[in-house]
Amino acid sequence: MTTFQTPRANDSLLPVEEAQRRVLEAVSLVEAEEVALADAHGRVLREDVRAPFDVPAADNTAMDGYAVRSEDVANAPVSLRVIEDLPAGRVAEKRLEPGTAIRIMTGAQIPDGADCVAQVEITDAGSEVVQVLKAVRRGANVRKRAEDMAEGDVVLASGTRIGAGEIGVLAGAQKTRVLVSRKPAVAILSTGDEIVDVGEERGAGKVVNSNAYSLAALVRESGGEPRMQGIVRDTREATVAAIESALDCDFVVSSGGVSVGAYDFVKAALDELGADTKFWRIAMKPGKPVVLSTLRGRMYFGLPGNPVSSMVSFLLFVAPSLRKAAGQAGDVLPPIVKARVAAAMRSTGERRTYHRVRVVAGAEGLTAHPMRAQGSGVSTSMVQANGLAILESGVTSVDAGTILDVVPFALPHAS
Ligand code: AMP
Ligand code: MG
Repeated sequence: MTTFQTPRANDSLLPVEEAQRRVLEAVSLVEAEEVALADAHGRVLREDVRAPFDVPAADNTAMDGYAVRSEDVANAPVSLRVIEDLPAGRVAEKRLEPGTAIRIMTGAQIPDGADCVAQVEITDAGSEVVQVLKAVRRGANVRKRAEDMAEGDVVLASGTRIGAGEIGVLAGAQKTRVLVSRKPAVAILSTGDEIVDVGEERGAGKVVNSNAYSLAALVRESGGEPRMQGIVRDTREATVAAIESALDCDFVVSSGGVSVGAYDFVKAALDELGADTKFWRIAMKPGKPVVLSTLRGRMYFGLPGNPVSSMVSFLLFVAPSLRKAAGQAGDVLPPIVKARVAAAMRSTGERRTYHRVRVVAGAEGLTAHPMRAQGSGVSTSMVQANGLAILESGVTSVDAGTILDVVPFALPHAS
């Protein structure tokens, strides 16, 4: 059972989808650079790659066996004279004449005159004379020339994110240098008088700067290059100076200082710098206040300070922007999958809530296991989490077994 309550007036809150649309509109493409093949993994391709030759270059055998003429073995069992032995990588010296066979190993080029391969399992494996025990169709066990790549065909389009499969295709096409997007550089600032860095003395009332590290990890996972710029004190001057010194990066991401507290200076500092700033209260939980600015051709994201809020708002707004800046083709927004929830979940129903879950793939599809605690300050609720289950505004509870939309942010693992 799913229970609802009429949400309070959320008129001034921006829907997530609208905020995402406005964020993506403000993104510009980074330049391209040439890298060595081995360094292209994870990057976005910026050129169409055409096959420089046919792959395979010639018809070849998919099996160990005997290259024969289908006509000769049509009335199997038959005996054929073996005239040559052909390992992979060598080309036959002889032409296959009627009544003969050439012993052939997987990958070797089909000799002239042959039109199929009798796999060794249907022969007596003879070396002078071979007995073929069954008929073989024309073309059987033959990999056709160019069946993988045909010379001149675009085998990888510009905008493709390069994973293991793409690296293999680039290597197969002998691309030693690849044109890809430069990794967008992302400055990371942590605002807050209460923040101390990892390894520093943690006095009373202090909070360790975990955000910079989790955000840097998310930047890397989204294809960017993080630049940790340290902790920014809660004064307008310090905030202005920190933002200015971060502007050699493509993106600036800060955490904290975007609420309406007396010590929240991000917005004021951006105003002073002449940025085009939009402050949004977004219809989501966690992560309501988010600042988006454009300043001297850079994009600035002011994320909320609570560790979970900053990560969730990063996943929904910053990660898609990094993918778009790198020129990734297609939809750069995180996908949404359906998953059955393993336990009941609650929400105030006030705003759309993103519950941290662990999505597990099983025989019945995807199951979402809610994390123990869901507070926006509970950083351990992100441990092992790989998805955000959506409870829409107005929904106050869902029972175990309910199917919900889930935003996966890491691949589900088998249980
Ligand atoms: P703020 O949005 O600046 O009011 O910050 C809200 C809360 O988030 C603070 O009280 C801290 O507990 C927490 N917080 C802010 N910055 C960080 C950070 N860099 N690392 C971990 N927690 C933080
Ligand atoms: Mg603060």
